Amino acid sequence: MNTAEAVAPVAALSLSDVHHRFDRHPVVKGVELSVAPGEVVCLLGPSGCGKTTLLRIAAGLEVLQEGRVGLEGETVAAPGRRHVPPEKRSVGLAFQDSALFPHLSVLENVKFGLKSLPSGKRRERALERLEQLGMAEYADTYPHMLSGGQQQRVALARALAPEPRLMLLDEPFSSLDARLRDQIRDDTLHVLKNVGAATLLVTHDPEEAMFMADRIALMRDGVIVQTGTPRELYCAPCDPFVVTFFGEVNELYGVVEDGKVSTPVGTVEAGWLSEGSEAVVMVRPEALRVSERDECGRAHVHSHVVMAKLLGRSSLLHLCAHGPDDAEAHLHARVPGVFLPAEGQPVDIHLDLSQVFVFAASGTAAGA
Ligand code: ATP
Repeated sequence: MNTAEAVAPVAALSLSDVHHRFDRHPVVKGVELSVAPGEVVCLLGPSGCGKTTLLRIAAGLEVLQEGRVGLEGETVAAPGRRHVPPEKRSVGLAFQDSALFPHLSVLENVKFGLKSLPSGKRRERALERLEQLGMAEYADTYPHMLSGGQQQRVALARALAPEPRLMLLDEPFSSLDARLRDQIRDDTLHVLKNVGAATLLVTHDPEEAMFMADRIALMRDGVIVQTGTPRELYCAPCDPFVVTFFGEVNELYGVVEDGKVSTPVGTVEAGWLSEGSEAVVMVRPEALRVSERDECGRAHVHSHVVMAKLLGRSSLLHLCAHGPDDAEAHLHARVPGVFLPAEGQPVDIHLDLSQVFVFAASGTAAGA
């Protein structure tokens, strides 16, 4: 075998054992993360978990306290030894509050970072980016004449214009309204993939991360809990936090007996947990297939409707399931389209086991 084939490409960005404290309070705790050339990685997590701090460390805006930051194999930050300043890191930055230069027009703002290009090319490239982000018609206006969302799009165009090898984006779509956001996300992803820029994008929105990311790094309280493709995080979550971060979930508790846990909606495998220990069975609302009582098969669980609400593309049912031994459980089910059985109507539930996850009840990871 050719040894060159076996060598992994040098990461566009690598963060090794990064720790950070503010006033002795640790906010980043031993993070390991890399972004491959051309890859889009989303740093996802709740407010205050340390995402922005990590991005600022990667950009050089925050001085690294512990660990190492590498860009394309070169160490750009190592405490006490090296701190390459942000402007020398050749990264494109777009932050939530990215300030545009107020005295420059939109076009001049985007041209600003293109000094290395011949002047004719600069205008062409800047207009191309503005066009891609739906802002070409505002080329000659000034930032104060734009809405917050429009300013954000110009900031994105400015960051993307020089086609940097690494893009660092912090909540770049946050001030856009919902409809525009979908469009701009789509256009931004297209530009990132066209340019082949490695990207680390911070968001607290799981759907945004799933749309944008090749890989997601889910963070909680300064620690990366799980890294993987959107599908890996959604379909093989490593702990209860990962399950709940992607949406509402029903939690049922039971004791492990003969490697299984019995719940009012069915029995699930839990052979990797200790016998007699308490387990939590997490059931996504879409894991419950609900049908009218007369379609009942043996595998189905009897239940009745407590409440049904139409949410638009789906219906939300509040159900009371009647398991064996008179055990009852209240559950939320999400059914595609319009399905609005009357209050009190008997229905049957069938469990889609691919959307059911079992963990030790203490909350520690106990996955297969
Ligand atoms: P959000 O999604 O709300 O932006 P985040 O995940 O990006 O949150 P950070 O902004 O990195 O979180 O903040 C992590 C923690 O560090 C928070 O508790 C925050 O209050 C604190 N913090 C951030 N910057 C500073 C600072 N300059 N001085 C002191 N504490 C800070």
